[in-house]
Amino acid sequence: MSSPNSSCSPQLSLYINGRWVRSQASEFLNVVNPATGEVLAQVPADAPQDVDAAARAAAAAFPEWRRTPPEERIQYLFKLKQLLEERLDEIARFITLENGKTLAESRGEIRRAIENVEVACGIPTLMQGYNLEDVARGLDEMMIRQPLGVVAAITPFNFPVMIPFWFLPYAIACGNTFILKPSEKVPLSAQRVFELLETLHFPPGVVNLVQGAKTAVDSLLGHPVVQAISFVGSTPVAQHVYAQAAAHGKRVQCQGGAKNHVIVLPDADMEMATRITAESAFGCAGQRCLAVSVALTVGEAKSSFQPRLVDAIHSIRAGNGLDKGVHMGPVITPESKARIEGWIAQGAREGAAVAVDGRHSNIPSGRGNFLGPTLLDGVPAASALSSAEIFGPVLSLVHTRDLEEAIEFLSRSPYGNQASLFTTSGAAARKFRYEAPAGNIGINIGVAAPMAYFPFSGWKNSFFGTLHAQGRDAVEFYTAQKVVIERWPKEWSRKF
Ligand code: NAD
Repeated sequence: MSSPNSSCSPQLSLYINGRWVRSQASEFLNVVNPATGEVLAQVPADAPQDVDAAARAAAAAFPEWRRTPPEERIQYLFKLKQLLEERLDEIARFITLENGKTLAESRGEIRRAIENVEVACGIPTLMQGYNLEDVARGLDEMMIRQPLGVVAAITPFNFPVMIPFWFLPYAIACGNTFILKPSEKVPLSAQRVFELLETLHFPPGVVNLVQGAKTAVDSLLGHPVVQAISFVGSTPVAQHVYAQAAAHGKRVQCQGGAKNHVIVLPDADMEMATRITAESAFGCAGQRCLAVSVALTVGEAKSSFQPRLVDAIHSIRAGNGLDKGVHMGPVITPESKARIEGWIAQGAREGAAVAVDGRHSNIPSGRGNFLGPTLLDGVPAASALSSAEIFGPVLSLVHTRDLEEAIEFLSRSPYGNQASLFTTSGAAARKFRYEAPAGNIGINIGVAAPMAYFPFSGWKNSFFGTLHAQGRDAVEFYTAQKVVIERWPKEWSRKF
């Protein structure tokens, strides 16, 4: 909750019905720069009235927005793309300030956001239905897609701009009105994006921003006018959101946590495999849902992969993401840091060797939540560590006899977000692609993040729902299908 020494930091407003308004909250949370401990702002914590105001505004805007031709709706998106391109560096700074990732990583995430805007500009084509004449004599049938109404997205801390854009452009291009509830840990980047959206003069109520934590989420889940919920975050919260949204009769898609594996075969290009694995495991301080968390070497791969990996890890410089030459920023909160350190200690207790120990690295941390990259070698298959999501800069190494054993190992994971293989063998690649139980597969790729025109997939405890974020799935998610059968008897025709 807000602390006395942060009373001079600004309280964030909400964007509702085309205006910036004060929250009705009575409690506020500090937004803290994870690299310095500085309080950047205060975010409203607990105001269901805010959600209600946004939902009403969005509902009032829907009928006219829905009637607005798709071709007109996407004109806003073309302008938005241009604006995001022009302000990319400025937005990146906001991301780095509140999330901690490096400026290069922040820029990369905005590029991914822009890609989604570009794809949603294709809505006049993507949203089309289909039809068939003469399904019976004189009867024609068609399927048309219609927007749902008010839809909402609830997003996590690790991609403050990219993840809202998995949803916003598609939702509004399809004719829905939209509410974003970003993570209370990183609300500033979303606020900046909405300041830009304001300059595009959307009709009031088409795009709305509320802030807050659990209370705001639960208010959205129970609100009668909200038709659909898109969620990205940890698995326990994803399960809660999925159950509650369904109980309230809403359409829902929930992306959850992850534990991603990479398998390295002896025939792999080892230079490539180590470099890419290290980038995947330690980029964004391991706080990516597609970060590699377990590297499985097969047979002789162990002897060449492990020492190269240690060298790659030693070349990673951790520090403030705003500083030049820094490869890895802090983790998001002191609690995250303590949790990750706890997992490293547990790994050691469970029998792994701490080959590189990030707990004792020389990072000039001050009040930042810094941890160096950590490598745990020989993590036992039965350990808790081998299946838990750590969500920090920790990579576990596991050594296996053959590809079968490695695939079997990753198949036991409760998560299925991503699995990758490094090899030069097409047959091994095909076997892996065929058998690995994960929604995003990488072959000689460390972060298999789908482009915006593919679904951001995810299986098992990494996803609850049917239709994923991005691309055609997003269009399906944000539209209802209506099937129309028509009869127009010939005898009713006048002679023209
Ligand atoms: P989180 O689950 O703590 O928070 C996500 C959202 O849920 C936030 O907006 C937060 O305000 C809200 N929330 C938190 N606790 C809640 C509760 N008890 N009830 C209702 N709402 C609640 O997740 P996070 O820490 O912000 O993000 C990290 C997690 O997100 C990791 O587990 C990561 O794997 C996952 N993630 C998954 C994907 C994916 O595509 N599968 C992408 C990014 C992040």
